[in-house]
Amino acid sequence: MKKLYLVLTLSIITLMVVGCDMTTEVKKSGEKTSEKTSKIKNVILIIGDGMGPAQIGLLEAYARQATNPVIRSRTTAFTRILNEGGTLGVSMTNSFNSVVTDSASSATQLATGKPANPETIGIDAIGNPSDSLIVIAKKQGKATGIVSDVRLTHSTAAAFGAHQPSRMLENEIAVDMIETGTDIMLSGGLRHWIPQSANNHESAIHNHLSLITDGAIDIQSKRKDDRNLLEEAVKKGYSLAFTKDQMVATSGKILGLFSNSAFPDAIITDRNKANPNRTIPTLREMSQKAIETLEKNEKGFFLMIESGLIDWAAHYNDTGTMLHEMLKMDDTLHYVLDWAKDRDDTLIIVTADHETGGFGFSYSSAYIPKPKALAGSAFKDKPYQPNYNYGTSQILDKIYNQKLSYLEIFKKKFDSLDKKDQTPLQLMKIVNQNTEFDITEQQAERILMTHNNIYYKKDHYSLGAKEVPKMKSNDAFFVYHISDNRQNLLAIEIAEKQSVVWSNGTHTASPVLVFASGSKKSTAPFVSFMGHPELGKKIIDVLMEK
Ligand code: MG
Ligand code: ZN
Repeated sequence: MKKLYLVLTLSIITLMVVGCDMTTEVKKSGEKTSEKTSKIKNVILIIGDGMGPAQIGLLEAYARQATNPVIRSRTTAFTRILNEGGTLGVSMTNSFNSVVTDSASSATQLATGKPANPETIGIDAIGNPSDSLIVIAKKQGKATGIVSDVRLTHSTAAAFGAHQPSRMLENEIAVDMIETGTDIMLSGGLRHWIPQSANNHESAIHNHLSLITDGAIDIQSKRKDDRNLLEEAVKKGYSLAFTKDQMVATSGKILGLFSNSAFPDAIITDRNKANPNRTIPTLREMSQKAIETLEKNEKGFFLMIESGLIDWAAHYNDTGTMLHEMLKMDDTLHYVLDWAKDRDDTLIIVTADHETGGFGFSYSSAYIPKPKALAGSAFKDKPYQPNYNYGTSQILDKIYNQKLSYLEIFKKKFDSLDKKDQTPLQLMKIVNQNTEFDITEQQAERILMTHNNIYYKKDHYSLGAKEVPKMKSNDAFFVYHISDNRQNLLAIEIAEKQSVVWSNGTHTASPVLVFASGSKKSTAPFVSFMGHPELGKKIIDVLMEK
């Protein structure tokens, strides 16, 4: 599986390099023509967390090959960038002295242009704070923004506005975020901003928070102290927003926190989009609010937008949810591209911090298709008969049709049953009601199997359980034993019918794609095989350009 993955990755890269050569020679339709001597004022960096080449490939396959894709034009924003004269580069994502990265280190390297250690936030390889793109933009007099659909204190966003030795220190990261003073901050993670005493439902602070959040957010603090960072933010000039309507009505510096932890997954979001009572804005709506506010600064702005839940779906090896997350990314990108369409003063960079899950469509020996008559002369005497199953394109429609994320299947449905009803039969029923890839009771039994944790580590937040779900292979690479591994096991059981393989529950070091859209002069440096510190440095150079 590993070997096949490597071959696929290398062939994608070969294709890309060939593709890049063409874009410099052939003038494509819709290419921005006024040749740009004008300076770049605005930089928008869009990070798909966990969005390796194969994740983009899933979106492309769906758009191009599904029977009836929601992308009616069959053209994704990624294809659009290149059709409209944008460029493509590649980047290695590894951390300092490591072959793989996590999101904290990767975002730090992008934000600061310097190598960083795994799990560190906004500090360099020896541990000193480094200025991020936000701070550098502020020094240039520009407006700044951070938008994410996970938590404002979670690794990717944090690396742009905090300096901490560990990504786990989200309470401290929240304090740093106010100190850094990014003008527009729209995300989730209210739990790190409100005093511990709010957990007492009878308290005045609990009532106050319920009131100002319009009852839209579950109030549950994770702080260990009584600091009310919302109040501290207001003293620093921020307006607060906790619902979509409040966000729309707010102006000036905005701190918007729309959920207690991360946002709901994209399957739920898609289903809820038309609901008039929806309180959580979409990634696109937050990006729009940020851009419309930031563009008022005549010196321009820097904005980082994170589509963070691609990574979470990929950690669960949940193909259907990941496709919906990629569609959310696509929708947001189209908005940003539309906004920048007739401008020559804006550079848009779209990339990932790393690949998650070792995802890929694969051919297999299961469900080999029957011989089929073909009209061509080569099949005059005998029907077409491949040796293996290459997966039909209908699989893409079925993947899209998933009704619940794997996480919701377990957390919301299965775990809420009485203990005595938590049986393989019940799990089979729930899975078969919510995906188009039926499993058997015997498969459900395998998903629910547990064994002794050979990686047990006392008090470790993810390795600290003695009995854990029983993985079939690559045990050590499924590190979130309690929270994730049943989902990963479900994915393994569904794999044959999806023609999909996942190699792990963490990250791979697959190089990631770097799309750039803007003037020829501004995008040219990004047509290169980089590393993430270098990519970050190139973005800093654009911001610092005099
Ligand atoms: Mg992230
Ligand atoms: Zn991750």
